Amino acid sequence: MSMSVYLDNNATTSLKKEVLDAMLPYYTEHYGNASSKFYAIGRTAEQAVYRFRETVANAIGAKVNEIYFTGSGCEADNWAIKGIANAYKSKGNHIITTQVEHHAVLGSCEFLEKNGYEVTYLPVDEFGRVNPADVEAAITEKTILITVMTANNEIGTIQPIREISEIAKEHKIIFHTDAVQAIGHMKVDVHELGVDMLSISAHKFHGPKGVGALYIKNGVRISNLIHGGGQERGKRAATENVAGIAGMAKAIELATAHLDENMAAMQDKRDKLIKGIMERIPYCRLNGPADETRLCNNVNFSFQYVEGESILMMLDMKGIAASSGSACASGSLDPSHVLLAIGLPHEIAHGSLRLSVGEDTTDEEVAYVLEALPPIIERLRMMSPLYEEVLKKN
Ligand SMILES: *Cc1c(COP(=O)(O)O)cnc(C)c1O
Repeated sequence: MSMSVYLDNNATTSLKKEVLDAMLPYYTEHYGNASSKFYAIGRTAEQAVYRFRETVANAIGAKVNEIYFTGSGCEADNWAIKGIANAYKSKGNHIITTQVEHHAVLGSCEFLEKNGYEVTYLPVDEFGRVNPADVEAAITEKTILITVMTANNEIGTIQPIREISEIAKEHKIIFHTDAVQAIGHMKVDVHELGVDMLSISAHKFHGPKGVGALYIKNGVRISNLIHGGGQERGKRAATENVAGIAGMAKAIELATAHLDENMAAMQDKRDKLIKGIMERIPYCRLNGPADETRLCNNVNFSFQYVEGESILMMLDMKGIAASSGSACASGSLDPSHVLLAIGLPHEIAHGSLRLSVGEDTTDEEVAYVLEALPPIIERLRMMSPLYEEVLKKN
């Protein structure tokens, strides 16, 4: 039996049919420029963008004028961090983040470090969780921004955002969260979380690639990242990606309307994979938490005596798409910064596999993976001199 199984939903998701249908009219008859208000076809686009902004705002408990569309999740993160750093530079130059953030956040912080800012990269515990007390202890009078992701894309850790936002509020420091992995996988409400800024990306919840949004709470000052025209109330230039925005609105509407049932379905598949792998494969380790602070769709294991890349190649031959870390990091041979941050030694971090399920993952697919994976690991281990030693000892 051969199947095609997609288990890389933390990297991207399929575009839903309803989402594509919502987008198509803005590529065909409604092709107007949303900033051209002097004729009907432009106004149609403008009014549509307003409605889509409302939909996105409603989905996360924001006001319509607090949503700014961007070209990606990476752009939203870059804008949040660089925009605050620039707007508040007379107040201070210190930023607090964590060692397990997405590269969009880490790269923005590293860029700022080269330009006179100071960044504290907080450590995490063995499950990838940041301690709110560490956030508080890192605050100085120069701190202008705290940025901590809502949920980790590699090992699924959900961070204590509410607790951190209370600390940020007490110290009057702006708090941004990268919620790209959270939408569609957990409840996201900007007031419940207590954040000032929040990044999202459509393609992580069955929307189109190349469109994201940044929630900016009213009253937060931010400099532009992209300069040019007056779009997005003068804060983000570029002709509105009306079809992309239509897709994001439809996708977030569906994700929020079916959140509970989708979460239950994904959690069921996730747990079957975790249990099945633990039962079938020795010398493995589940990375990330095993409780309710784990993202409902994320599975991440380290297998001793094997290379993650080799597992991926052999899974691919069986038609299974998975990841050994974050998609941005693959292609490099460095082990994932997240796995190193939770304390894994290099050789164990190298033998890691992420399986991220989707709302449409079936029991049949899970069974297929649980059948395919153990012989792959066993075959790869047979090539390892280290494993040979282990077998001899036992
Ligand atoms: C995918 C991802 C991003 C980047 O979003 P893009 O739209 O692909 O640029 C940022 N942060 C996290 C946590 C992600 O998983």
